[in-house]
Amino acid sequence: MPLDEYRKKRDFSKTPEPDGSTAPARKKGGELFFSVQKHLASHLHYDLRLEWNGVLLSWAIPKGPSIDPADKRLAMQTEDHPYAYGTFEGVIPEGYGAGIVMLWDRGTWTPEVPDVDAALRKGDLKFTLDGFKLKGSWALIRTRGFGGGSKPSWLLIKHKDEWAGPVAIAEFAPLSVKTPEADFADILAADNPDVWTSNAPAKTGDTGKLFQRIIRQAVEMKEQGKKRTSGDEEPKAEGKRQKAKVPPKPKAKAKKAKKAKKA
Ligand code: MN
Repeated sequence: MPLDEYRKKRDFSKTPEPDGSTAPARKKGGELFFSVQKHLASHLHYDLRLEWNGVLLSWAIPKGPSIDPADKRLAMQTEDHPYAYGTFEGVIPEGYGAGIVMLWDRGTWTPEVPDVDAALRKGDLKFTLDGFKLKGSWALIRTRGFGGGSKPSWLLIKHKDEWAGPVAIAEFAPLSVKTPEADFADILAADNPDVWTSNAPAKTGDTGKLFQRIIRQAVEMKEQGKKRTSGDEEPKAEGKRQKAKVPPKPKAKAKKAKKAKKA
């Protein structure tokens, strides 16, 4: 237990320090960080990171988070990451996780349960996110039977609330929250890529090929992004979240339909 040492060193009949048994006492230490890193590696995925006990609990989500409560997104638990990893954005040139990492969302998270460790053991963690893209109430539910990794598989599910909606948030808001308007190609092209080196990579002969494929994919995604943004005008005079709830309108078609009606 992360607080065992803290508790062993203190006698709570003698110190006014909190014993950490209640959520508000723990919150005195500051808010809990969360981030989602969009990771273009051998397969595109999104890494959810929740600060807990000084490290980042981590899940890899192949399809990315969805703000539609009807979607249950597979989230494969991965190894805890160092806290400093949470805002990393840059290029991993080779080895484990080789590819491009974009800081896709960041903010704070708040448990909706009195005991996070118990909730994690039980496999049912409810929490609130306050990020730029992801907000409101969520659940991580541990599952059996699929995922296939050594760590368990979970499902990430958005609860119904004012921050939920039938929007493909990953496609609607695909860019970095760290480098304004940056996509994978921009991160790759940055003059001094911030290279994460703590996972001392093992060299493999396939790395060169893999990275070439990743670069091609980054360029393709940039082209797709250009097409998408040039095709739709942004709706005006609406809040950001409202915008997110309005699907792009097929304007040309709508005009043609009107003309057809008149004729
Ligand atoms: Mn990853």
